[in-house]
Amino acid sequence: MQSHGFGTSGQNDAMDNPKHSWAPESVVVAAGRPDAPGRPLNAPIVPVSTYQHGGDAGYARDDGTESWASFEAVIGALEGGAAVAFASGMAASAAVFGLLDVGATVVLGDDCYHGVRQLAERGRTASGWDVVILPVTDTSAWSEAATSADLLWVETPSNPMLHIADLAAIGKARRRPNAMLVVDSTFATPLNQRPLAVGADIVVHSATKLLGGHSDLMGGVAVASSGALREALATQRRVAGATPGALETFLALRGTRTLAIRLERAQANASELAHRLVRHRAVAAVHYPGLASHPQHALAAKQMAGPGSVVSFELRGGNAAADAACAAVELISHATSLGSVESTMERRTGLGGQHHLPAGLVRLSVGIEDIEDLWHDLDEALGGGD
Ligand SMILES: *Cc1c(COP(=O)(O)O)cnc(C)c1O
Repeated sequence: MQSHGFGTSGQNDAMDNPKHSWAPESVVVAAGRPDAPGRPLNAPIVPVSTYQHGGDAGYARDDGTESWASFEAVIGALEGGAAVAFASGMAASAAVFGLLDVGATVVLGDDCYHGVRQLAERGRTASGWDVVILPVTDTSAWSEAATSADLLWVETPSNPMLHIADLAAIGKARRRPNAMLVVDSTFATPLNQRPLAVGADIVVHSATKLLGGHSDLMGGVAVASSGALREALATQRRVAGATPGALETFLALRGTRTLAIRLERAQANASELAHRLVRHRAVAAVHYPGLASHPQHALAAKQMAGPGSVVSFELRGGNAAADAACAAVELISHATSLGSVESTMERRTGLGGQHHLPAGLVRLSVGIEDIEDLWHDLDEALGGGD
């Protein structure tokens, strides 16, 4: 991961495993295993709703399953907090928003996951929230808003424009006593950035994406900086019933075990494709934090251990050219979602609240395929010429 010019400093050092000072690439493999002689090496899938009376667990919606516990242990260890697994990324997000009172002030980035934007908008009408939308990159506006916000929701890198928010600066800003700084770190994964270490209260991931990594599950996780916040989120899960399935958490954990090598390959591929797309005659602009031309490249290189595996780009031919390119790819799948072993690409303009997106935008999630095959497919879909 060092080959991108991105530092790992502060990442490995800050990994506070109680027993060892393992690198994240080891924690991701070793944490959360059953720790007793004769037990399976991996936490088994336990399909269960109810337990026999007299033990620690009574009912699975309240007390979970072994598969949840192991997945939560790994993500908690990686982020340096206490994790709560959910049925999806949106379930995790809704649990966080569910902690807010009527009339709360919510601050959101202008480029963020459309479902989260909808959650905030619904709270505006249903619960009288004041929803303030700020440019992801306007650090001083975020710092100023922190003094009056109840929830600061920062998504970085942002979906789909790959804007970078300055987590350390926003984390340092003075907040109200019970205000929450929440970071949707889905694009970064726990291996590329650790928001709790720079002052965030909660980190949210869609485990559907890079953690699962194989497009075969829905899952989410919220990681709290304190035991009290973890309890609050677990209560939300219990009362709202946003419980993950035992199979899904097993698969999410199985996917997470290989995150380090998948991410390393995917972001090496993404980096190479981004550099080649910049020079392609059909392409008007490329948005990728690993490019020196990205407006927050220096910040990204300081804050993240790697540039990630998502590249967005604009075609000179506008929307028609973007639709045609998405229809033409063969190795790359024309599909939504991101962060899987297979590359996917799509438009994002049809989604609610995404009116800010430039014409001709395509979002490409880069997988682990052969780089020359990926480039050949992309170049053909863009009409050749490179
Ligand atoms: C996909 C996604 C979500 C929502 O997660 P689901 O698992 O689809 O519910 C939230 N934030 C970001 C950045 C995402 O990409």
